[in-house]
Amino acid sequence: MTRVFNFSAGPAALPESVLRQAADEMLDWKGSGMSVMEMSHRGKEYVAIQAQAEADLRELLAIPANYKVLFLQGGAIGQNAIVPMNMLRGKTSADYINTGEWAKKSIKEAKNYCKVNVAASAEDTGFTSVPPQSTWKLDPNAAYVHICSNETIAGVEYHWVPDTGEVPLIADMSSNILSRPVDVTQYGLIYAGAQKNIGPAGLTIVIVREDLLGHALPITPSAFDYKQQADNDSMLNTPPTYAIYIAGLVFQWLKAQGGLKEMETHNRSKAALLYDYLDGSSFYSNPVAKGDRSLMNVPFKLKNESLDEAFLKGAQARKLMQLKGHRSVGGMRASIYNAMPVEGVKALVDYMKEFASQHA
Ligand SMILES: *Cc1c(COP(=O)(O)O)cnc(C)c1O
Repeated sequence: MTRVFNFSAGPAALPESVLRQAADEMLDWKGSGMSVMEMSHRGKEYVAIQAQAEADLRELLAIPANYKVLFLQGGAIGQNAIVPMNMLRGKTSADYINTGEWAKKSIKEAKNYCKVNVAASAEDTGFTSVPPQSTWKLDPNAAYVHICSNETIAGVEYHWVPDTGEVPLIADMSSNILSRPVDVTQYGLIYAGAQKNIGPAGLTIVIVREDLLGHALPITPSAFDYKQQADNDSMLNTPPTYAIYIAGLVFQWLKAQGGLKEMETHNRSKAALLYDYLDGSSFYSNPVAKGDRSLMNVPFKLKNESLDEAFLKGAQARKLMQLKGHRSVGGMRASIYNAMPVEGVKALVDYMKEFASQHA
């Protein structure tokens, strides 16, 4: 068996030990005689699996008791609608910060439910930085302020937390959740699709402050009403049980790695290997402002685009997979989430050096 170094932006690589454990437990989970996929979501075995996953996630992120953790479906794009449905709380407008393709999708969807005030936008500078908060035009009557904490396509990440006063801050953390510690108390709500840094696609995690719940618009489907799901331990409908089980194994793996402080150290050194090489190279480039660069998604371009295909082919031959950039921006993108070992990043940088010297 040969495992590759998978740089996919999502669905993305999972820790090999997690996959091995899942394989071992596939036919018979701990003597139950069945796969987790086949269990009743209300049986005591599965209920224990989900409770442990929640407890481990709470421990990793130090989630306070007054926050609910929800295991939902519908992805982050689903949340782009579900957030305004639940969080307007009698208000009619919300503030959004436009940092790129994912923020734009959130803005577009929210417009179906409320007045959207784009309080700041990085569009005029080609989405290569996060607009500093001093430039934001926040509305004190907004229901919430929405940010995308890591723009997965352009590789732009917040390395600071906005201060929105009494107005709840809401973050789409799909592509950087669990990459480093986060002070959850600074957010009203955090949401993330699982397939980048948590587990399999199909699971969406929502972490929400309890006092904000209970004001969903009447049109809200009950499966997407945070309060109803919170009151039912995310079992108002059948949750994505197998995805939650795998996410739980990832949480245990993260704890065994030493937790999120340790992951941050690893992730910073992995990202530095790539960015330091890119900055010293005249063959490749990355356009993002140094202080706003993503630790998770590193887009880069070859100065000579006609070499793109040869670059990808050579990478594949070295088992460096899924490096092609998003179709909207072209070039390359290396996604280096928690599960990407430093050896993978080193192998990529070695290959980049070799390719550059061959084609200089
Ligand atoms: C991948 C991604 C999404 C989309 O998630 P889906 O699960 O496909 O709905 C949304 N936001 C960000 C930041 C992402 O990286």
